[in-house]
Amino acid sequence: MNSASIKAVKELLSVPQKIVIVPHKNPDGDAIGSTLGLWHYLKNLGQEVVVISPNDFPKFLKWMPGHEHILNFEKENSQAQEAIRNASVIFTLDFNHLGRIGQMKSVLEEKVATFVMIDHHQAPSDYAEIMYSDSNMSSTCEMVYNFIETLGDVEKIDSNIANCLYTGIVTDTGSFKFSSTTSRTHRVVADLIDKGAENTNIHNRVFDTNSPSRLHLLGCALKNMVILPEYRTTYITLTQEELDSFDYQKGDTEGFVNYGLTLEGIRFAVIFIENKEEGIIKISFRSEGDFSVNEFARNHFNGGGHNNAAGGRSDTTMKETTAYFVSLLVQYKEKLNA
Ligand code: 5GP
Ligand code: MN
Repeated sequence: MNSASIKAVKELLSVPQKIVIVPHKNPDGDAIGSTLGLWHYLKNLGQEVVVISPNDFPKFLKWMPGHEHILNFEKENSQAQEAIRNASVIFTLDFNHLGRIGQMKSVLEEKVATFVMIDHHQAPSDYAEIMYSDSNMSSTCEMVYNFIETLGDVEKIDSNIANCLYTGIVTDTGSFKFSSTTSRTHRVVADLIDKGAENTNIHNRVFDTNSPSRLHLLGCALKNMVILPEYRTTYITLTQEELDSFDYQKGDTEGFVNYGLTLEGIRFAVIFIENKEEGIIKISFRSEGDFSVNEFARNHFNGGGHNNAAGGRSDTTMKETTAYFVSLLVQYKEKLNA
């Protein structure tokens, strides 16, 4: 954060505000961890503050301290609208353009308030007056730690905040293995453990909560995997029918895409997941090395993200989507084999 932003935030928080904190739609561990971590911090400062999520979040995060206070914009719409109407400050965390919050976009676009962005994705848009944007960061949770430290309050990080921030860091770094993980990330995590983050407990709650149907769905996904060695690429498809037959619950497909990258020589892994209700195919892209899936998602699938992890969508059928995807690979053959 630059010094002008730090000064602006300090001024903002020196008086009572009505604060709303918003994560992106389909929030993951980093989105929920960062919003709840910031929520605890601001609440402890005496601010009036509420987290509003564009929609529901996965069950494996529904143990996090404070999660029961999150308003769901879809399900608790009037309460959420009222909180937004009254807000003087709106923090947006773990996303950087309003297209990432679904139906909430139009509501926030009309809203006059001081917007503060804390985010680690590339190419931020300019809706926020105060921006803490750094695409080199492992996670928005690491940035919330920095944010609190910058305000001189690192000693105010209690076990609730520590547990929330640890969760986002461990999920967004793939358990500290992605290249965005730095020595600083480990120092932050070490301090969070000192401050009460229960690391083993968090690992168990986030990663060891499989249901039999989820493991069977994973089996189906792996069976569907197509390997294209000439492009060092793999992709997985899951149709709505397949999801339904394995009693799909929100969050069940989290991490499936990463299996493709565990194959020797594979650099680009993709999963296509049909969502009949929204009439789209939701796509996750992952890569190893220099191949930018952010660019790929941006250029071809109306999405974005990071160099090695991005998402996008398609409005055509599964068959058309995968055929289009495969047809695109020809122009990337050299890059994928570099
Ligand atoms: P995931 O594949 O886990 O949903 O997302 C991977 C990364 O890409 C995350 O950082 C996420 O925020 C970003 N991402 C996922 N879907 C989209 C999308 O539709 N648009 C943009 N701009 N980013 C996305
Ligand atoms: Mn993130």
